[in-house]
Amino acid sequence: MPRVVIKRDSCKGCELCVAACPQRILAMSKEINLKGYFYAKVVEPPRCIGCRMCALTCPDVAIEIGVSGAQYNFFEE
Ligand code: SF4
Ligand code: SF4
Repeated sequence: MPRVVIKRDSCKGCELCVAACPQRILAMSKEINLKGYFYAKVVEPPRCIGCRMCALTCPDVAIEIGVSGAQYNFFEE
């Protein structure tokens, strides 16, 4: 199962990752982080397909995806 790590205190609560996730498994927390923003979190981790759309979308590089047994080469021909 892919592992999604959202760096809570790097999040600025823009919700772009929530909109980008094709599985609709990201949501905003009801708690705030150190910056005072409602941060993104994964609500249904088992449904993650490891597509990395959330990580690619995040303007603050607050999301890391760990996928075993697969390699992604973005932006290469
Ligand atoms: S890797 Fe893909 S499926 Fe998993 S949380 Fe991110 S956008 Fe959603
Ligand atoms: S895209 Fe990044 S900064 Fe925006 S809500 Fe998601 S994790 Fe936070």
